[in-house]
Amino acid sequence: MEYRPLGTTGLEVSALGLGASALGSMFRPVSDDEAAEVVHAAYDSGITYFDVSPYYGGTVAESRLGSALTAVPRRSVVISTKAGRYGENLFDFSRTRVTQSIEESLQRLRTDYLDIVFLHDIEFGHPSQVLEEGWRALVDARTAGKIRCAGASGLPLDVLTRFAAAAQPDVILSYCHYCLNDTTLLDAVPRLMAGRVGLVNASPLAMGLLTQNGPPEWHPAPAQLKEQAAAAARWAECHGVDLADLALQFATRRPEIPTTLVSTANAAHLARNVRVLAEAVDETALAGVLEVLAPVMNLTWASGPPT
Ligand code: NAD
Repeated sequence: MEYRPLGTTGLEVSALGLGASALGSMFRPVSDDEAAEVVHAAYDSGITYFDVSPYYGGTVAESRLGSALTAVPRRSVVISTKAGRYGENLFDFSRTRVTQSIEESLQRLRTDYLDIVFLHDIEFGHPSQVLEEGWRALVDARTAGKIRCAGASGLPLDVLTRFAAAAQPDVILSYCHYCLNDTTLLDAVPRLMAGRVGLVNASPLAMGLLTQNGPPEWHPAPAQLKEQAAAAARWAECHGVDLADLALQFATRRPEIPTTLVSTANAAHLARNVRVLAEAVDETALAGVLEVLAPVMNLTWASGPPT
């Protein structure tokens, strides 16, 4: 496993991190034991960065991650969680709620400090509440030593870059924008790096699109993107490669994107995800898959409150 500095935060993170959404049964039902097993397998294979949110499984993922991580030295891992999103359509970026949320996350994660807290999916919040309340709450928690780094996450890159320019966060989490079918994060990197932000890239499998099994029912991608991703999976299978392997290798190989979060509650998938990073990329297969995905390159979907 490669370890890289996360911007200028002073944190060092594994090139691949474990996202705990799957531990909250966001993709399929998962037991406590499975959740603990995958966290321990991740740690044993060199993963030191773990990301979660109170939203994942209605706090279940945080409790499971916190419980599993009691088995390892606290300072050997970087833990990020989030505040402001608590349900599919439940957001609260008020100062009071974000402050309270940090306290609750500290308890569920069984720690006295959080390495990173992101305001979760800020495109759903009112920009002035996000900046003047939620962000102030994170800054206060950072000053009090409860959190080490503060930032925001979301889908639309223009929302994230505007937030970065206004708030000068330590970290930004972007998802589904640096993977085989979407590389628009690269265009935003210079703007984010101007503020020396630590960049976290999430969803290298595009939330399941870039796998042989395909995405979950709720996946928000337009039909054309789903169809082309399925075609890429078929192409990969016919050529004896696994689309997820290529997707992980692709997403993790650029040093300007220091860490990438993948989620799984399946220990075999986890082991494979770590193993492929050390393997040579099959450049012919990669070019073939990129050609299949070319008609939908950078095609995304809307995220935010209904207009
Ligand atoms: P992902 O791209 O990691 O895809 C996860 C899906 O791929 C799951 O269904 C998983 O079972 C499956 N999978 C994993 N490895 C596989 C393999 N080798 N073969 C086949 N299938 C495999 O998407 P994600 O879960 O959305 O993102 C990862 C993490 O990033 C999340 O858990 C979260 O921590 C973070 N994230 C944050 C935000 C946000 O803050 N708004 C949004 C998205 C993701």
